[in-house]
Formats: sequence, structure tokens, C-alpha cells
Amino acid sequence: MINYPIPLLTLIASLRKLPGVGKKTAERFAFQMIDWQEDSLESFGDIVKTIKQKLHTCKECGCLMSDTHCLFCDLGNRSSKALCIIASPKDVYAMEETSVFKGIYHVLGTLLSPLEGITPDKLAIEKIQNRIDKHQIQEVIIALDSTLEGDATALYLNKMLSNATISRLALGLPIGSPLDFIDEGTLSQAFTGRQNF
Ligand SMILES: [Zn+2]
Repeated sequence: MINYPIPLLTLIASLRKLPGVGKKTAERFAFQMIDWQEDSLESFGDIVKTIKQKLHTCKECGCLMSDTHCLFCDLGNRSSKALCIIASPKDVYAMEETSVFKGIYHVLGTLLSPLEGITPDKLAIEKIQNRIDKHQIQEVIIALDSTLEGDATALYLNKMLSNATISRLALGLPIGSPLDFIDEGTLSQAFTGRQNF
């Protein structure tokens, strides 16, 4: 065990909490950071400290926004004829990268997982149905991870939602893969080839 001073050890331990950052990378980051000017470190700290206060979740669609105006609910930019149901705000950006979808989103925030106690009531089906009716949505596209939880959630949504055609991203997505791990081309193809339930 290397005898790093405690403050440096603490910084390394914090950096290691990031996904994909192992011991060596965390050490490299930490040594890089202690070379930064004081004001750069302060500004970095401030950004981290205030991110949760500055970032908001749209009450309507669940996407992220920086103030009270949700770009994803702005019907000046988006068509309201199609609704894409997606698991997390992060996945919305993966979908936007493909530029194939111009409708509105609905972020579930979670996927069904009975083992973890995530039961259908957590999906707020009523809210989704209200949005389908309010916007007279013609097509609902279910864009969930190709995992056990994603499949179970998609089946449940298909059973519960009405008044719109329901389709799902084409198979061909790698099984077991989270949406944001899929490259733009594959995701775009899966979207274009979406199939009716
Ligand atoms: Zn919104």
C-alpha cells in the first residue's frame, strides 16, 4: 500500500467512485488536479457542489433542464404526434444523437424489477396515458434497454397503454445492453426498424 498523505488518498477514493475509473486512473487524475491553479480547483469544486441545485427535472416529461423552460416539451421545436418512452434522462441524449426522433419524451426514471421492489405502481402509468390523450399521440415508441427489466417493462407498458400505436425499438440491439452503451448507428437503425408490439 502506497503511503499517500490522507488528503490525496481521500481525493483518489472519491475519483474512484466514477464508473470506469480504476486505481491507476484515479491516481493519475488526482496528481493532475494537484497541479491545477487554485482558482481552477475552486471552480471545479463549485461546479460539482452546485450541480444538483442548478439542474432540474421537467415535471411534465422527466428530462433534464437548466431553468424552468424544458426544451424537450417545447412544441415549437418538437412534434407532439409521437411519444418516446425511455428509462433515464441520460438515454434521451443517446436518442437525440441519432437525430431520428422529433417527438416528445417520457422518462420513466426506473424499470420494473420485482426483485428490487420496483413494482408497476412506480411507473406512473396514469401520467403517461394522460399525456397520450392530451397530446393526441399517434405512436408510442418504447425505447428501453434490451435487458430482462427493460423487456418486462415494455410488455407491461404495451398491456396498459391505449389510444396509440405502440412500437418498440427493433431487435438487433445487443441483448443485455443499456441504451447509452449502443453506438449511434445501431441505435438509429433500431429506431428506424421499430416494430409494432
Ligand atoms: Zn419536459
